[in-house]
Amino acid sequence: MKLKTKLSLGLSFLFAIILAFGILGFYYINRLSNDASMVLKNNHESLVYSNNMLKVLEKIPGKKDAFKIFDDNLKKQEANITEPGEKESTEELRKNFNELLTNPTDASNYTELRQSLQLINDLNQNAILRKNEIAQKTAENARFWLTIIFTLLIIVSIIFIYNFPSIISDPVTRLSEGIREIANKNYKQRIYLEQKDEFGDLANAFNSMAEKLDEYEHSNLAKIKFEKSRIETIINQMKDGIIGLDEKNHILFVNVVSEKILGLKESDIIGKYAADIAIHNDLMRTLLKEDVIKELKIYADKKESFFNKDVINVMANEAVIGQVIVLRNITPYHELNEAKTNFIATVSHELKTPISSIQLSLKLLDNKQTGEINTEQQLLLDGIKDDTNRLLKITGELLNMTQVDSGKIQLSIAASDTKQILTYAINANRNAAEQKNIHLDISIPDQLPKVVADSEKTVWVLNNLLSNAIRYSYDNSTIFISTGAVDKTITFTVKDTGQGIAPQYKEKIFDRYFRVPGTHKDGTGLGLSICKEFIEAQGGQILVESDYGTGSTFTVVLNAAPILSL
Ligand code: ADP
Repeated sequence: MKLKTKLSLGLSFLFAIILAFGILGFYYINRLSNDASMVLKNNHESLVYSNNMLKVLEKIPGKKDAFKIFDDNLKKQEANITEPGEKESTEELRKNFNELLTNPTDASNYTELRQSLQLINDLNQNAILRKNEIAQKTAENARFWLTIIFTLLIIVSIIFIYNFPSIISDPVTRLSEGIREIANKNYKQRIYLEQKDEFGDLANAFNSMAEKLDEYEHSNLAKIKFEKSRIETIINQMKDGIIGLDEKNHILFVNVVSEKILGLKESDIIGKYAADIAIHNDLMRTLLKEDVIKELKIYADKKESFFNKDVINVMANEAVIGQVIVLRNITPYHELNEAKTNFIATVSHELKTPISSIQLSLKLLDNKQTGEINTEQQLLLDGIKDDTNRLLKITGELLNMTQVDSGKIQLSIAASDTKQILTYAINANRNAAEQKNIHLDISIPDQLPKVVADSEKTVWVLNNLLSNAIRYSYDNSTIFISTGAVDKTITFTVKDTGQGIAPQYKEKIFDRYFRVPGTHKDGTGLGLSICKEFIEAQGGQILVESDYGTGSTFTVVLNAAPILSL
């Protein structure tokens, strides 16, 4: 039954009871009022007439008025006969009155008249008593029925008041509970209402909505699961190692390559705190360090492999929600690079011998004993000498580079004579400086601590800095060369007054093969990068300052030997 019908029926029932109560009340009140007016009309008036007649009876013989009053009242009485026997008594009264008129002195007539009047009085009084009893009964009936209806009304009202709110509120409560569950993504929630009203319809609609949401959720879940396994397959088939961490550094996933190189099974470490795993796993410890790792050499799967570490922050709403560590497998590139390094090393090494013999031959040609050389020939020989020196420089640089690349820089670090190192480098460049008429302003303090360095490599570096300074300086300029001890360090400074280096290239000049655009002088762009590698390998630093247009200052900082070894 529809809720609307239920409400209409309930309210109609209440209305019917109230109506019945009203009609019954009205009926009984009406009946009692009718009874009362009938008593008044039928009996009370008869009593009044007979009393009037009694009052004037004694005066009839003398007074004409009395006769008339009696006659009038008698006529009224004759018109108001209501009780059984009243008619006969009234007829008897008329008869006696007529007799009294014919014989007014007869006392017996008075007596009979009085008796008839008394009879009428008695009849009416009895009738009043009887009717009063009937009215009492009617009132009792009214009380009885009205009480029953009133009680019924109260009971129905109480039932109605008690039940009516729950008819509305119970399904509303269950529906709102259901909606709350759905909001909490519990799509299994259903509402079972027996009633077939609007709430029943609403519950059915709710259930079909929940079913649809459930289906949708499951189809979505299946889709997400499918996508997840697809991504897992892709990640697992990658040649790079991939490790996923959440924002609290718990392991989310580890692909097959990572499993191999870590030597751990994904199932054993998933969900674990990465730092806990790092306690027993060196590689994980290295990976968790924030340092930039150039290259990781890992022995896994019975072979040596090389990896690059790359950390990608996973962002959501501008917050880091995790990290993906990518271990790029660079073994093929590494192998190619190694082959290239070996090739360059072999070629440069092989070139050194013929270049050296060319130099030797040039020296022999310089000797007068080998024959006179004319001016043109001397010019040609000078050109060959320059080219040979350049070739030697290049092969030397290439060899040094291969040493750096293969990680085979062999250092023999010892407390070395600072002044001697600098002097070697200066002497090697005197000729070149003279050719450009460049003045070398040298400042070396008398008392200098020794420097902790590989003297050969350091000479090579200073030599390189000086030859650069000469090459990139104008003719007839000055180059300032100095050394000194500062805070347990030894500094070597080469300051030229050449063209200088534009600010945007200041950092780049230490990169391999980099040459400032527009530099026409010969060169490989390797010298400064090797200088940096050599100095840093000795625990030192190489710095550059340059005012573009006015010159450059290169400074090498190395550790000073303790004062005892002075
Ligand atoms: P290169 O063999 O070209 O000199 P380097 O590595 O020694 O290679 O130097 C790299 C580049 O830095 C040079 O090509 C040059 O442009 C710049 N450079 C090096 N030294 C100086 C200097 N003293 N003055 C100006 N530019 C310089």
